[in-house]
Amino acid sequence: MRSFHHRRTSCRACDGERLMPFLNLGRQPLANAFLESPDEFAREAFYPLEVYFCENCSLVQLLDVVDPDVLFRDYIYVTGTSETMATHNAAYAHTVRDLLNLMSSDLVVEVASNDGSLLRQFQKLGVRTLGVEPARNLAAVARAGGIETVDHFFSSDTARAVRESHGAAKAVIANNVLAHVDDTRDFLCGARHLLASDGLLVFEVPYVAELLDRLEYDTIYHEHLCYFSVMALRKLCESAGLSIMRIDRVPVHGGSLRVYAGLQPTHAAAVASFIDVEGEMGLHSPLRYRKFAADVEKSRLLLRKMVCGLRTQGRTVAAYGAPAKGNTLLNYCGIDASIISYTVDRNERKVGLYTPGMHIPVRPVSVLEESQPDDVLILAWNFAGEIMKQQAGYRAQGGRFITPVPEPVVH
Ligand SMILES: [Zn+2]
Repeated sequence: MRSFHHRRTSCRACDGERLMPFLNLGRQPLANAFLESPDEFAREAFYPLEVYFCENCSLVQLLDVVDPDVLFRDYIYVTGTSETMATHNAAYAHTVRDLLNLMSSDLVVEVASNDGSLLRQFQKLGVRTLGVEPARNLAAVARAGGIETVDHFFSSDTARAVRESHGAAKAVIANNVLAHVDDTRDFLCGARHLLASDGLLVFEVPYVAELLDRLEYDTIYHEHLCYFSVMALRKLCESAGLSIMRIDRVPVHGGSLRVYAGLQPTHAAAVASFIDVEGEMGLHSPLRYRKFAADVEKSRLLLRKMVCGLRTQGRTVAAYGAPAKGNTLLNYCGIDASIISYTVDRNERKVGLYTPGMHIPVRPVSVLEESQPDDVLILAWNFAGEIMKQQAGYRAQGGRFITPVPEPVVH
């Protein structure tokens, strides 16, 4: 039988072998592998979910790699639907155009271009665009909407082929994708090869400092292979022949870095300032990661104690949201359908399914007010404020919300 998983033995950035495991979240199912019926429960696949720190280059990473064909070829998350996203994308396209003085002959390539919603904004500005999107269903949606898209994974081979067919790119954009790639250096080498000499690679990655500070351990799942610091990124970019020209902190996906890299000979001065701050935070030291792991374990014990205590008192507990991160949290804390009877989600595609591993049924949001559970654990905690506001009716009848990280709090 074909194996869908392999384990690396060396760092994906520097090939170093001094890799310290510091957080073991146990064997877990894929965070987005929701199940359609109880018949599937017994056939579920589990993979190790353990996080390592490279003592040579400081990159925080998973070594267990699930086949990207399993993870990304049919993807249900489509970005183009919300108006907020469209506004965000329009502003993003303007920023990049102004920064690079893009002209109509210039090419913008987006890696993991999804349904083409960001490239559409570039198209409106009159530049040439090309999407590279491995999810065939999304690539087809993009093409149908008039955005030229190839359905490949991005690599140095793909980059060579694109450069040959379309010429060099003035901008290569890669939001929320580098962390998903097993061969990080090959990806960056490909981007460098595709860039015009005055072009820029603009990419967004989760920032490890935020993961540590806010104890966002539930954002760790098999799709996210790396959690970057600037100190790790600097070495990685150097090894791919890229220099970092600018870094912005952006508040997406629990806190990310937006990095601009090009072919200039040296890094911008801001890079050293970032690394100084990271040094003070101890991001180069195994100690900081061990402390994080101890805090995560403490947080798990507190959450279990709280929800199990509520059940012992005879209270009913439900959850809000069925995000991927909720599944890391539920599986790691061992909170199953005997504790949480159901979760609710606004995404119709998830309603009627069961959460991976813990098998909690996903129901429509309207169920919350109909059945009025005593407590609701917010799994989509990044939207907690918005959710509590929307569910004023549930609260008015005495319902309570709980946010789980960094430690459980009743609202
Ligand atoms: Zn390394």
